[in-house]
Amino acid sequence: MPETRAELPRRIPVLIVGAGPVGLALAAELGWRGVPCLVVEQGDRSNEIPRTNAVGVRTMEFCRRWGIADLVRNAGFPPDYPHDFVYVTSITGHEIARVNRPTHGGVKPSPVSPERAQRCNQLWFDPILRDLASGFPSVALHYWSRFESFEESDNGVVADITDVKTGRRVRVAADYLVACCGGRSSIRDQLDIKMEGIGVHDYPVNVSLDVKNLTSFHDKGRVAMFYIVGSQGVLSTLESQDGADHWRLSVVGGSKPMDVAAFDVDAALLRAFGAKIPYSLRNIVSWTRRSLVAQRYGGPRVFLAGDSAHQNPPDGGGGMNTGIGDAVDLGWKLEAMVKGWGGPNLLASYNIERQPVGILSVAASTRMMQRRVLAPEASICEQGEAGEHSREKLRQTIMGSGSLFNADKVGLGYCYEASPVCCPDGTPVPEDGPDYVPSTRPGARAPHAWLRDGRSILDLFGRSFVLLRLGVDAPEGRAFSEAARARAVPLETVAIVEPEIRALYHSPLVLVRPDGHVAWRGDALPRDALAVIDRIRGAALPA
Ligand SMILES: Cc1cc2nc3c(=O)[nH]c(=O)nc-3n(C[C@H](O)[C@H](O)[C@H](O)COP(=O)(O)OP(=O)(O)OC[C@H]3O[C@@H](n4cnc5c(N)ncnc54)[C@H](O)[C@@H]3O)c2cc1C
Repeated sequence: MPETRAELPRRIPVLIVGAGPVGLALAAELGWRGVPCLVVEQGDRSNEIPRTNAVGVRTMEFCRRWGIADLVRNAGFPPDYPHDFVYVTSITGHEIARVNRPTHGGVKPSPVSPERAQRCNQLWFDPILRDLASGFPSVALHYWSRFESFEESDNGVVADITDVKTGRRVRVAADYLVACCGGRSSIRDQLDIKMEGIGVHDYPVNVSLDVKNLTSFHDKGRVAMFYIVGSQGVLSTLESQDGADHWRLSVVGGSKPMDVAAFDVDAALLRAFGAKIPYSLRNIVSWTRRSLVAQRYGGPRVFLAGDSAHQNPPDGGGGMNTGIGDAVDLGWKLEAMVKGWGGPNLLASYNIERQPVGILSVAASTRMMQRRVLAPEASICEQGEAGEHSREKLRQTIMGSGSLFNADKVGLGYCYEASPVCCPDGTPVPEDGPDYVPSTRPGARAPHAWLRDGRSILDLFGRSFVLLRLGVDAPEGRAFSEAARARAVPLETVAIVEPEIRALYHSPLVLVRPDGHVAWRGDALPRDALAVIDRIRGAALPA
């Protein structure tokens, strides 16, 4: 049971509303940075029906930084369990197509990251994050504490919080408030920020169930997710939750919410299984599939993160992962403000950097969702030649759309192009392609490479800005360290001699931000290093 400390602090630098994965990730990131924060959660999350399974590659890189990557890797699926998706007429029926996902799961090294995407259901992932966050002395985590409303001034916010168990209400003053309170955020409403996009695709029903040794009933082997196809297209998905007996059937919905009480679970499972297979039911829920992004992510004192800011269709597993990216972008900027070295424009860059990522991520999930809109021929489930022909035709359609969701591209490939706190180097925007291309273009995630000592170069980033001096004849970087010292900006200089990393990193000097994105790069020191430091800490507006 989550710990609740007795007294709420009455003054705190950062107040976080919601202890879902995004609120917990933000608390962990701030705790890791030693920034005091308070998380209030209206319940204890025990009634939460777990949704997320897919922990993306970038989230795993953050988990690596926080020291919990092994815990996540070992808490979800068995490491050797394949992450494959298989399209079938039923799990005991015909196999139509198999999408192998070789960069997901397991421990085999990826060429572009020291980590690999994993499957770790929220059942395990959230408690790992919660234990991490609550282990930091600067983090106070209060369950059964409901945020009611706030008043914002130039200096901060004052929020009313109710102790749900006693009804007692207290006022908490904070410098910054972050809404991690999910899709129905009352903070977003109070800021009068509208969501844009598609409010309802459909109203699916999720059935969580246990089936003892399901693989022994069919011939498809170990599969992460089955797409069950009928002549109308994809009818449902059956997704493993733990690489063992726990499964979730997600039945595609209509344009009206389904009546869960009247939902015929036996019939839906019989259609998916294609045979009578014994199961025990955990729960049934109806939910809404949406593609929405907030018009803006807030500021100057109140910010939206996670589902408060964007709601992805779950396809491709983008929602939580994008939200955790929001948390990491905010984390170092809040640290900079609380510790006094952040400039007045730094937090405005949160919206400018993250809202386009929300739009990209929701668009990618929506494209992935459209894979469900298949138009099979009427004979798709039939035995014999006509059926075989329909299945082959559909297989070609599915495999032809294989690049719709390239997880590395979605998770690692975005660049904060318009950021006012990154310094463009004048090179043209590269052409957009389907694959992730490592880049040190200012705004991009600094690419992974293995150092000679066995660490990833990513292991150097996080605590401070890092000036990389790449190659044996890299210019010295003293002007940057002196400028950073003058502004109390934490900056470390690291020499990298590996020639292959010098080649990968494009320039001999690359300045990387605490979130691992490139702030500046050049062949020589800039004429005015102080001006660069002022810009990347948000103290100077771009010329
Ligand atoms: C079926 C399904 C499968 C999914 N699978 C994936 C996946 O595999 N990978 C992925 O990345 N995403 C997935 N998603 C999306 C993912 O679930 C969400 O993006 C993610 O849970 C959002 O996290 P959050 O912390 O922003 O919000 P939430 O998880 O909604 O948490 C918000 C919290 O705020 C609390 N709260 C709300 N109001 C208040 C208040 N006034 N005071 C105090 N507390 C409050 C709530 O009680 C709640 O605990 C899936 C979604 C669905 C529907």
